[in-house]
Amino acid sequence: MRIETVTAKVFRHSSTIARDSDGHGHPGPAVPASSALFTITSYTGVQGHALTRAPDVDPAVLDRFVRPNLIGQDPLRADKLWYGIYKWQRLSGGLLTDRVLAMVDLALWDLIGKASGQPVWKLLGGHKDKVPAYASTMCGDDLPGGLATPDDYARYAEWLVQRGYKAIKLHGWMPPMPGAPDVRKDAAACAAVREAVGPDIRLMLDPHHFYSRSDALWLGQRLEALDFLWMEEPMEEASMSSYQWLSSNLTRLNILGPETAAGKHWTRGEWVRNGACDMVRTGVWDVGGINPSLKIAHMAECFHISCEVHGTGAGNLAVAAGVPNCTYYERGLLHPFLDYEAPKEYQLRIDDEMDSDGYVNLRDMPGLGQDLDFDYIDANLI
Ligand code: MG
Repeated sequence: MRIETVTAKVFRHSSTIARDSDGHGHPGPAVPASSALFTITSYTGVQGHALTRAPDVDPAVLDRFVRPNLIGQDPLRADKLWYGIYKWQRLSGGLLTDRVLAMVDLALWDLIGKASGQPVWKLLGGHKDKVPAYASTMCGDDLPGGLATPDDYARYAEWLVQRGYKAIKLHGWMPPMPGAPDVRKDAAACAAVREAVGPDIRLMLDPHHFYSRSDALWLGQRLEALDFLWMEEPMEEASMSSYQWLSSNLTRLNILGPETAAGKHWTRGEWVRNGACDMVRTGVWDVGGINPSLKIAHMAECFHISCEVHGTGAGNLAVAAGVPNCTYYERGLLHPFLDYEAPKEYQLRIDDEMDSDGYVNLRDMPGLGQDLDFDYIDANLI
């Protein structure tokens, strides 16, 4: 099998996510938005797709780095093709991002699944045909009845448990929200949620990402008392030694990371080797795709630690189900004012439908399992 064409379509849709001055998403009125459909097509007409952001399909990036490494090549050799593009990253002047690597890798895996008639989660190892999801809340806000107070989080957590979730992760308050950042307010929300859901629901926290060591330790000690499963990214991740220090000072609470640190699987290996985390993070959009995510998960398995997948969507779901050592799929971001279950205009179904017991059941369809509305996309091209 050989790759014939590499194409991209940018299309318009609406979004009800409003970004604050630090970039965090909150519920808002419907506004125009755009996304991109990246497609790799074989000479036999099999297509693999990745949904991504419009800047990732910059024609100059596709022409200079992506097409020369894919056209005419065998798409089944996905990791070799990943390396072919990756090696251009160093001298690309920042143009070739990890997101572009991820987009190509996801489309290749979707194509491999469709060509073989198999779902990607099975091709990656097929460990679970259903994965427990954790409810991942949006960051705190100042919306009345939203996520403005510890009581708001507690009330919403009760609703999430009724919906079927057995695990919940709070995102705390971040600037520019009034009073943020404040470890005491974060701890109050965590205590209110623990009180509301009782001892049997797994809880995690993703707080403000720029706390000091002493604030991160104070907060981690409160989470230990509340029996939280993990805390992620309470400090800038470029300082790995700060995470070594934090992990060594928190014996009961797991530190999960790195999530946003650059360096793909190599960085994750360094964090595990140096004891900077108790669970390691991957995410197809953070580390350059499925292939690097598999390396991270298998590396973690060698040390008997879990590899927790960051972010939503079909690619992350396939990794979470494919490997033996991922505990949860991250479902979100969720907010009392948003309907997460409703498909986007360009979807026939959402990627991660969840049952009333809190499991996302993996689809038995070839490829990544995305159910896209290609007619909508073609009718709304930019
Ligand atoms: Mg996070």
